[in-house]
Amino acid sequence: MANSVTHVIVVIVLLDLFRHYVFGKKKFPRYLLVIGGIAGLGPDIDVPLTWIYQFLTSSTTDLHGLFTHSIFFVLFFLGIALLLHVKKRNMWAKIFYVISAGWFMHLVLDCLYGGYKTFFWPFHYASSFCPQWGIQTHAADIDAIILVLWLIHEELHQRIIDYI
Ligand SMILES: [Zn+2]
Repeated sequence: MANSVTHVIVVIVLLDLFRHYVFGKKKFPRYLLVIGGIAGLGPDIDVPLTWIYQFLTSSTTDLHGLFTHSIFFVLFFLGIALLLHVKKRNMWAKIFYVISAGWFMHLVLDCLYGGYKTFFWPFHYASSFCPQWGIQTHAADIDAIILVLWLIHEELHQRIIDYI
């Protein structure tokens, strides 16, 4: 599983790129980046949930990766977004699109970093399709590279805007 910081950074960088090049700043207010970044951590809510569960039941069951890391939640938030979209509640629709995207990126990243247990929860299909290339050991380096590239992008983009 990827670092918490990676989950936040990657989603913010990707959404920011979409904001720059696809949607435009007016249609994609900055707060959506914040919501997306937080949603990028969403599936790991099962870490504090495990603490609470273990505290209350004095069991040693680890909930991490058991159900919040399921594509079900991505589709659930996407469904809410589509519903709001149809009802023309555009601001809320965007918020739920972004939550769905952030949640989805978490699953993608965890998969790229070695996989986890139940991608298809509540169904019990195998989740063994994630590549095992051991990039987990370079997690901190990857964070640094992403951050530096993004800072360079921001600087260059700002310059371009200044010149126009
Ligand atoms: Zn995770």
